[in-house]
Amino acid sequence: MKPTKNRVFCPECGRAKMLFQTEKKAEGFIRFNGDDIPMPEGCTLRTYYCRACGGWHITHKKYRPNYGQFTEGVIEHYRAMMGLRQVERERRRQQRELALMAKAERMAS
Ligand SMILES: [Zn+2]
Repeated sequence: MKPTKNRVFCPECGRAKMLFQTEKKAEGFIRFNGDDIPMPEGCTLRTYYCRACGGWHITHKKYRPNYGQFTEGVIEHYRAMMGLRQVERERRRQQRELALMAKAERMAS
């Protein structure tokens, strides 16, 4: 029987997929339900870790070395944005410091 409660939208795949917390649970699903899942001729089910979902999916597709590129792109973009924010925060902090120093000099003279 196919569980429906553990389906999530996977941003890496761009569609709903079953998500398992552990590899063991995903393998268990294959063991108990693998025969009932329609598949192209000559394919076998396998588990794989999805970084986007933080868990395990199952697929009949072969290993693709470029799997995860979309998620890697999102993470890279996020890191770049956080880096820019850090630079901007530092710039504002320096400006505040300079303004305070200028104010202190004006008061002293
Ligand atoms: Zn996923």
